This record gives sequence, C-alpha cells and structure tokens, in this order.
Amino acid sequence: MRPRPALFAVLTSLAAAALAASSAVAAPFPQTDTEKRVVAATDTDGDSLPDTWETNGYDANGDGVVDVDLPGMGANPKKKDLFVEMDYMAGRLTTTAGLDRIVQVFASAPVGNPDGSTGIKIHLDAGAARGTAYNLGGGNEVAYDADLNPSATQTNAIKAANFASARKAVFHYMIWGDSYDGGCSSGQAFNIPNDTFIVTVGPKCNWNATDDINVGTFIHELGHNIGLKHGGTDNLNYKPNYLSVMNYSFQLGGVLKADGTKYWGYSSVQPTSINEARPDERVGLGSLGAGYRTSWKCPNGSTRTTAGAANQPIDWNCDGDTTDTTTAADINGDKTTSILIAQNNWANLVFGGGAVGGGSELQSKTPATELQELTHTEWTEMQHR
Ligand SMILES: [Zn+2]
Repeated sequence: MRPRPALFAVLTSLAAAALAASSAVAAPFPQTDTEKRVVAATDTDGDSLPDTWETNGYDANGDGVVDVDLPGMGANPKKKDLFVEMDYMAGRLTTTAGLDRIVQVFASAPVGNPDGSTGIKIHLDAGAARGTAYNLGGGNEVAYDADLNPSATQTNAIKAANFASARKAVFHYMIWGDSYDGGCSSGQAFNIPNDTFIVTVGPKCNWNATDDINVGTFIHELGHNIGLKHGGTDNLNYKPNYLSVMNYSFQLGGVLKADGTKYWGYSSVQPTSINEARPDERVGLGSLGAGYRTSWKCPNGSTRTTAGAANQPIDWNCDGDTTDTTTAADINGDKTTSILIAQNNWANLVFGGGAVGGGSELQSKTPATELQELTHTEWTEMQHR
C-alpha cells in the first residue's frame, strides 16, 4: 500500500473545457483547478474525448487557440481513440516492432464503434525516437534514474517537467523506466483507473526485457489505467479462467491460445466461474475455453499448463484424473477457497481515468489494492516450474 499521489487526483477544469470545446467561437471563460463539476459533453464513441475535441481540437485554457490538435493526430469522434505519451530512460523504450504489436492488440480488439468499425485506435507518442508513425511531438528521453523512489513522487516530478499540461485531458502519460521503490516490480499504475503508469522491467533487476516482456507489461499497466484489475471484477490473481494479460499468469508470457500462438491483450471472453470448493474437472473452462490453453496451481505449489484446448477436462487437483466434481482445489494458489469469476475485459473498459477525458464517464477512482506488481523473482519462479 502506498499513499495516493495527490497530483494524480487533481481534476482538470472539465466543465470549462467542455464548454469551450462546444463553442464555435471559443470565448474566455472562468476556469479553476478545483472545478469538479462535470458538464455532459457529447461523446459519440464513448472514449471520454468529447466529439468537439476530436473534431476541432482541444483548447485547454480557452484562449481560442487549439492546444491539442486531436484531428491532426488522427482522432475520430466515431471511433474509440486512446492517446499515450511515452517518455523513456536511455535504452528502455521498446522497439518499433514492440510498438507495432501494442497498436495491433488495440486495433484488433472486439470493440464496436459508431462508424461501423471494430477496434480501438491507440496513438503512441515516442517523440522523435521511433519515426513519424510514433511521433506526436511529445515523447522525451528523461534523465536516467535506476530507482524511482518514492515512485509516485518521482513519477510526478518527471511528468511535471516533461509533459505539456494542456495534454492531461487527452493523453495518458507513461515512463519506460528501470525500477522503483527499491524493488523489482515490473510496473505501476498507482490507481485504477488512472492517467499515469510506469513500466519498469529494466536492467537494475536483470529483466533482460524482450519485446514480449515490454509489450505485456505496457498493456498490463495501461489496462489498470483503463479500469482493469488482476482478477477482472476483483483482485484475485492467477485465475485459470481469466484469459488476459491482466492476470499475472499471462502478463509476461502471453495468453496461451489453443493453436499454439500467444495473445498479448485483454480478455475477450468470460468463461464460466469456477468454485474452488468443488471444481468440475470434467468441463475444464467450458465452451468459451475452446480457443485457449491455460495454467493453474497444484496443491504442491507447482504450476501446470493444459496440453490442449481448455474446454477439455482439466485435472484441477493434480491427482492424475479429470473426473473429480466435489474435491476442493486451490487452483489459483492463493490459499483460500473462492469462486473464481472471470471477465471479458474489452467489454468493461473505463475510459477517462484520472484527468483524461471530459465526458460523462468521469468517476471516482479506486485506489489499487494490489499495488505490488509482478516481480522479477516471481517471474523467474514461474518459468522454472
Ligand atoms: Zn497489475
């Protein structure tokens, strides 16, 4: 647990911004940093960015000059857009191929749009570091700090120095860093939902981060920003039926598909719940598990992975058969007997976390209760089981 960073909780003058954006002639208007009132703004695609911003641009201070040119950056009022400014410490920004993979995960999301398309357009801004496709004029290299400590304070300081304040209603902000708070945690999003996160799979803890690890962790931490948790509806981790990179079982190694490929995004199905008091081995994850394999914990603490599709019988208690229906099994390894409820992440995204957005989705934030993210030690243990 760590204190909620006050800066992240500060709301922009959403009401004033929405009024300005809805006015063809942007006249000066009163604006205060404590304005908490939300004026409903038309947001056809539900991405928390009002149509007027996506059509005309966003005038943060109401001086009649567009400060954030959303249409110029490819925003569409009829298709969900997500903007992320990425700052980076030397050597930590993932490759162009990694950025391409992130874009593709969102582009192929099973999320409908008013323009008839599916998917989410994510706009990643690495400044000049990764070519024009990823240059929206904002990303910067920042001073190398191998240990952001205390993480919230240090992250806020870097953000304040490198991130244009006019962007905070439009862009999520993140840092490709090394490590934080003296530990070896893979990342941090500070709140759920939120507007800021860090990815910290750096050399200090010998992550030797591949594109897989960078991409999985980026999408995981961004997932917290857009409302997703380690257990879907709750914070229970390692649920075999939660087929998402939000689940530690799949953050760094990908969600396992039945065809042998890996998937690096959020869950698009909600398989049936599993009651650990009496899991039915005969049904596996049920019909929605057909396209996937999955991993679960045995009573001795080891991890097993299905050989084939997860709609086939699964030996939840690791006793050598797949016929038990009344034998308790702690299959997510948390030493409690729970009902494991999955989630279709893509159907439950929360746009407008933190200061992002100005539409009707603004809501109170829930402090993350699971702020200790997946560590290098845990990852190493998972690989060696
Ligand atoms: Zn997490």
